Amino acid sequence: MASLSLKSGLYVTATPIGNLKDITLRALEILKSADLILCEDTRVSVKLVHHYGLTAPLKAYHEHNADRMRPEILDRIADGAAIALISDAGTPLISDPGYKLVRAAQEAGHAVVAIPGPSALTAALSISGMATDRVHFSGFLPAKRSARRNFLEELKQIEATLVFYESPGRLVKTLTDMLEILGDREAGIARELTKKFEEARRASLSELIQHYSAVPPKGEIVILIDREREDREPAQDLDGLLLAAFEEQSLRDAVDAVATGTGMARKAVYVRALQLKEKKA
Ligand code: SAM
Repeated sequence: MASLSLKSGLYVTATPIGNLKDITLRALEILKSADLILCEDTRVSVKLVHHYGLTAPLKAYHEHNADRMRPEILDRIADGAAIALISDAGTPLISDPGYKLVRAAQEAGHAVVAIPGPSALTAALSISGMATDRVHFSGFLPAKRSARRNFLEELKQIEATLVFYESPGRLVKTLTDMLEILGDREAGIARELTKKFEEARRASLSELIQHYSAVPPKGEIVILIDREREDREPAQDLDGLLLAAFEEQSLRDAVDAVATGTGMARKAVYVRALQLKEKKA
């Protein structure tokens, strides 16, 4: 592919989220023609560079050096450079660094050009089987349980498909908080999209908790939560829900959570919880 003569500016360029073939012809042209490619981690992006024989120098731009690098980058653009910004995967600025740079470049009067392409957000939505007329994307939830739960409380009333990024180690905890706060809604897990062990699963939150408690997930994950639906059957797998809740909570808290999540009478849930505990003992 021939290199182009690019006008100066910042080219915000999407790269694959796994499968290296998922890159647009235009993105390749830009990366081949840029004077400099800014990436998050050169060790990650070097794979793309080698795969496509890119020759532009690669430089790290991340939260730890961004304030120092930004004036230097703006000076280079002012001197006529075409600079591409990429992230480790997918679309820069989508839960990735770059917004201050984009803003500063725009404020300095430079061209800022989107070179669109893959993102885990849009890929997951496209196979969610959920309505996408209204979508609320929250990126990563707070790591601390109390902050995470407060955050979810704020989302409770939003009538839209909710989308989150999550790490595999926290998935079950997050789904459990979601069950307790949002109720037993239908949810989707899009895992390792475009990669060898790709998985897309749609089920109630309680069923997903059961599944991923039994089969701990690996890899990169998007969680999608359907909006509250009045026509949906409540989850009936009380035992599974209780056993999942026992992993994280006292008996009393587990009963409260499951009763709230399923809408079942607290007493019925409590009786069954005691039976399960006795069986286990
Ligand atoms: N900028 C990226 C984008 O456009 O999707 C997202 C960057 S964010 C730091 C990384 C998170 O995106 C991962 O922790 C995971 O939640 C999600 N993600 C990235 N690649 C993924 C994939 N192949 N399958 C599922 N989720 C993915």
